[in-house]
Amino acid sequence: MQFNGLRLLWEGLTGHKGWGPLWRDPDPKPEYDILVVGGGGHGLATAYYLASIFGQARVAVLEKGWLGSGNIGRNTTIIRSNYLLPGNEPFYEFSMKLWEGLEQEFNFNAMVSQRGILNLCHSDGQRDAFRRRGNAMLLAGADAELLDRDGVRAMYPYLNFANARFPIKGGLLQRRAGTARHDGVAWGYARGADRKGVDIIQNCEVTGFRIDGGAVRGVETTRGYIGAKKVGVAVAGSTGRVMAHAGMRLPIESHVLQAFVSEGLKPIIDGVITFGAGHFYVSQSDKGGLVFGGDIDGYNSYAQRGNLPAVEDVAECGMAILPALGRARLLRSWGGTTDMSMDGSPIIDATPVQGLYLNAGWCYGGFKATPASGYAFAHLLATGRPHDTATAFRLDRFARGCPIDENGAGAQPNLH
Ligand SMILES: Cc1cc2nc3c(=O)[nH]c(=O)nc-3n(C[C@H](O)[C@H](O)[C@H](O)COP(=O)(O)OP(=O)(O)OC[C@H]3O[C@@H](n4cnc5c(N)ncnc54)[C@H](O)[C@@H]3O)c2cc1C
Repeated sequence: MQFNGLRLLWEGLTGHKGWGPLWRDPDPKPEYDILVVGGGGHGLATAYYLASIFGQARVAVLEKGWLGSGNIGRNTTIIRSNYLLPGNEPFYEFSMKLWEGLEQEFNFNAMVSQRGILNLCHSDGQRDAFRRRGNAMLLAGADAELLDRDGVRAMYPYLNFANARFPIKGGLLQRRAGTARHDGVAWGYARGADRKGVDIIQNCEVTGFRIDGGAVRGVETTRGYIGAKKVGVAVAGSTGRVMAHAGMRLPIESHVLQAFVSEGLKPIIDGVITFGAGHFYVSQSDKGGLVFGGDIDGYNSYAQRGNLPAVEDVAECGMAILPALGRARLLRSWGGTTDMSMDGSPIIDATPVQGLYLNAGWCYGGFKATPASGYAFAHLLATGRPHDTATAFRLDRFARGCPIDENGAGAQPNLH
């Protein structure tokens, strides 16, 4: 089934009876060339690129629940490539470029909207840091503009310019950044992968690995044993638990991150705004809800829900920068389990078990990385070599003393 304007018109005139399921619901086969564990954004993107770019025909995605039940369906939908460090910025800019052609490529409306992101700065030192970041972005081929206070006021006159504690000094603007509909991304990749012959198997939890002579032979699942030549694990917040089945302890902690959406309002915020003196980011969905979030809850947890101190912190930050937020009613909030790495940067690498590969450590910023992460992981799984933009995301970088500490927070997963 191909989506296009004519088809939409035809279905609209004939009662929408012609739409079929977006992907098949196959039973697992006894064996595959490559198994991808985790049907989140990264796992589905990996399977899509394995089949579409790297010509892998015998691929399956194993998902313990339903597609979109993890962080891919829980995030605040922000996509951007405003990173500083050489190990990170080219990768995220590669992702941004993939976002720009994604919907045409997989023929699905993921509502990619390049509405811009503005990072506010509140001190002279922070403005200098943003100038440096902007220059690093430009060097990597991304776009960046430094706005002064008047430039920010022209875009968002209702921000709190009278706040003496957090004066708005300016902001770093990336116009090509924005938002995308998170479920649409999962569905688009799932449909695209399915059309290329990938088996997407839901309600199939991986409960163990069969490892023989130091090499992976397949996985134990709630739907029986499935053999594989290679296994790629992309289970985000469940990374610690799943890799423990292979006897591995990783430099990753699982933490809760909450998100919030207000009642539907008339258009007020046409981009993404981040507060620079606390942790708060906000955009407005096409339905009108203000979608916002802040810091992780700060303790280790596998629960997909958080607690009130983080709610209070997010509300305080929001009110400090956007006082009008206090007049909006909160519609709902939810939580997701994030895979916080020790330096805040991801891992896309082989493991000491031959044939077993890992994609993890996305912290609370992996949605924007979905296309590049899938592409780079597929590259690694298919060729055995890291993709050019992901050479720094090695598992042994902690042992080698080569962390990619984007925030400069040190080995503190709760601070990244
Ligand atoms: C509240 C919140 C807000 C966020 N906001 C942003 C944002 O604005 N921008 C941004 O870039 N990032 C954001 N993120 C981070 C981003 O959502 C994640 O980094 C990213 O989605 C993780 O990759 P994924 O999509 O593959 O994860 P998931 O969707 O969590 O996929 C992992 C999948 O693995 C499955 N799984 C687990 N164990 C097993 C098993 N044993 N067997 C089989 N399957 C298993 C899970 O069910 C799950 O579906 C946010 C995260 C949260 C929680």
